[in-house]
Amino acid sequence: MDAHGDSTRKQENLLRRKRDSDDESQQSKIPKREVDHNKNVANHYNRLQEVGLAARSQSRIFFMRNFNNWIKSVLIGETVEKVRDAGQRNLSVLDLGCGKGGDLLKWRKGGIAHLVCADIADISVEQCRSRYEDMRRRSHGDQGAFSAQFITADCTKELLADKYDKPDVKFDICSCQFVYHYSFESESKADTMLRNACERLKPGGFFIGTTPDAYELVKRLELSDSLSFGNDVFKVSFQARGEYPLFGCQYHFNLDQVLDVPEFLVYFPLLERMASQYGMSLVSKQRFSEFFSEKVKLSHHRNLMMKMLSLEEFPGEHDGPPGPEDKDEYRHAREHCDRAGQAGIRLGTLSRSEWEAASIYLVFVFQKTS
Ligand code: SAM
Repeated sequence: MDAHGDSTRKQENLLRRKRDSDDESQQSKIPKREVDHNKNVANHYNRLQEVGLAARSQSRIFFMRNFNNWIKSVLIGETVEKVRDAGQRNLSVLDLGCGKGGDLLKWRKGGIAHLVCADIADISVEQCRSRYEDMRRRSHGDQGAFSAQFITADCTKELLADKYDKPDVKFDICSCQFVYHYSFESESKADTMLRNACERLKPGGFFIGTTPDAYELVKRLELSDSLSFGNDVFKVSFQARGEYPLFGCQYHFNLDQVLDVPEFLVYFPLLERMASQYGMSLVSKQRFSEFFSEKVKLSHHRNLMMKMLSLEEFPGEHDGPPGPEDKDEYRHAREHCDRAGQAGIRLGTLSRSEWEAASIYLVFVFQKTS
């Protein structure tokens, strides 16, 4: 091969590489069509119907929903108490991702003075507002009739600070229940939601919430021989395994036809680091199982648990010889009764399927320390 032929080929190669790289950079200039997950999430929650107690009690996850509600009640109640113990009066609260207002009664019970409810799903926010107005009418201006503002906003993109009726409002608590994982799609979304949660907290104020535990999800995925795991009441499906990016690690959560929306893994050490940039220190992070074991020891929490029907009585409908269906679902409870060896012992439990779903979640508490 002659020198001339060599240099021509080199030039051709260089040109080809330049052309390829130009093509690539042209392509990267064409905006990719982004899937608007947030819109899907809003539509999904807007479509969810509120059903009455009778219909709810027929659901396979009736007790699990009550159990989750109990976890939130205890968390909210204890946080309100801590703020009061620190000498604060006239508490202000931000409910970030308030949904249809499932926690309004908890805030009334806490005797707060002002509540801001924000959510991306406009119909949910309207239902939350009318629930609040009903509650207020019924309380006839008694104690518990706190003032409230309702904001429809994508809290991963918009700053709530621009929308408050009281422009200089400061919060004692931001509560973010079963919501924060929607923000971990990208760093900027996760950071905006965190900023909304923390930037208006008073010194000593709390950011509390519940979210799936990424370790638990990945552990179960790795144990599964497919890309999904679950049971009759829930199913989690990933798109890949082995690599878990810090942001945008998407999975689908399907819960008894109640939920079927994309969610994102929240790598907790990263959340902790991001939160520290807003002066937040982690106070506690507990799996639901740990939180339950600790709180159920206190009689007032236990009484509330019974009042809220957060556990199913066993033996109950499942008394007598187990049918093929409940054999496995209540084996743990049956074995516990057998071990206790006392005739007539009754206990509270969740079905195995419900517990497998509930035990994915964790409770977190951050406090503004600087
Ligand atoms: N916190 C409520 C509760 O515990 O009853 C509702 C929880 S629900 C599982 C999740 C809520 O997060 C939905 O109401 C949904 O609309 C809201 N959400 C999801 N993404 C959001 C976003 N980007 N901005 C604001 N709210 C969002």
